[in-house]
Amino acid sequence: MNVEVVVVGGGIAGAACAYFLAEHTSVVLLEGEEAYGYHTTGRSAALFSEYFGNRAVRLLTAASRAFFDTPPSGFTAEPLLSPRGVIALASAEDVETGRFDEALDSGRDARIAAYEISLDDARAMCPILAPHDYVRAIARPSVRDIDVDALHQGFLRGVRARGGKTIVGRRVNALQREAGGWRVTTGDGAQYLARRIVNAAGAWADELATLAGAAPIGLVPKRRTLALVEAAAHAPNREVASSWPMVTDIVDSFYFKPESGKLMVSPSDETPSTPCDAQPEELDVATAIDRLESVTTWRVGRVSHKWAGLRSVVADETPVLGEAPDAPGFFWAAALGGFGIQTAPAVGRAVAAIVTGGKLPDDLCSNGGEALCEAAFSPARLMHMSDENLN
Ligand SMILES: Cc1cc2nc3c(=O)[nH]c(=O)nc-3n(C[C@H](O)[C@H](O)[C@H](O)COP(=O)(O)OP(=O)(O)OC[C@H]3O[C@@H](n4cnc5c(N)ncnc54)[C@H](O)[C@@H]3O)c2cc1C
Repeated sequence: MNVEVVVVGGGIAGAACAYFLAEHTSVVLLEGEEAYGYHTTGRSAALFSEYFGNRAVRLLTAASRAFFDTPPSGFTAEPLLSPRGVIALASAEDVETGRFDEALDSGRDARIAAYEISLDDARAMCPILAPHDYVRAIARPSVRDIDVDALHQGFLRGVRARGGKTIVGRRVNALQREAGGWRVTTGDGAQYLARRIVNAAGAWADELATLAGAAPIGLVPKRRTLALVEAAAHAPNREVASSWPMVTDIVDSFYFKPESGKLMVSPSDETPSTPCDAQPEELDVATAIDRLESVTTWRVGRVSHKWAGLRSVVADETPVLGEAPDAPGFFWAAALGGFGIQTAPAVGRAVAAIVTGGKLPDDLCSNGGEALCEAAFSPARLMHMSDENLN
């Protein structure tokens, strides 16, 4: 089959890239698993936070906001965002070392600035809080929950409505450069001739690059654990209100938030891993529960569900979006760390613009000039970093 672009990977990154590409050109999206969100995309905490990540991540998040607030007509019947908010607790040490002021400052540029609240205010917002080890708190009011499934399915439906194809159960296992493009071969022997490839293979993005003869970007998948816990049967306060904010601390050693009458908890683990079907470790689940119980009066009775996923990052924790300098026609859409859902609309738009027009959309460059933006996201920056490391 001949096609302009093959997108490899049907997580949120591949779905978003294929959606925006299909507006302009012919696209086939190939997903190796039998379900599109099987890996990281189906395992996230589903948060949209304009306070999170470095400048490049915040730029992409801000540029995604309008899509979340007002998706194109017919994209989804559900609202993509719903209210949440975050409280970040600070210890005496955080205050003494200046970490508290830094955290407050770094939240001031957000569309709705972060601000300090008293611990009493924090308890009023989340009545189970008993933050003995903490002395101050920050509110991050504009954080929202994302309906990840509605976003993901909206992109995939949109690809098909625009004439593109999305196929599950097709793992790409060979990429050969041919005159005018690439021959893509999948595990079941199917072949596609594509002018361009988009690498949205998540934790496997470096492995896919190796198939294409492109230099890897030094991607490190890091396991993060989540568990859904129910209250102990005889505990005095068992109720969970869906209106409670997420609670974390400013050094990000845990978080919890309400989810379907239970609490979703994480120890904020970041354990380096090979690309794999990540599974939760008992110790990480126990750590999450211990941290939850140490900052609240709530007591856990039972773990009703636990899972883990891989947040894949490169050295500067900035997404890698752009053409491989050593493999023309092979484009990266990878290294989306813990922010791949909230940045997906801008990532998809950026990659589609680079693939079809050779440059980023203007609004993504407005804060620093195009050259800065291109360089900030380009895979070439990582090759420079490794050159410098060698010298
Ligand atoms: C616990 C946890 C909490 C998180 N919380 C948030 C959050 O609150 N907000 C947020 O924005 N982000 C969050 N994230 C991060 C977010 O989930 C990721 O950044 C995002 O899902 C990455 O999407 P992806 O498409 O790059 O990867 P994936 O979803 O992993 O998709 C990649 C796909 O490529 C496929 N693939 C790989 N190799 C091949 C091949 N050779 N051929 C065909 N297919 C292939 C894989 O099967 C996979 O389905 C969280 C992540 C975790 C683990």
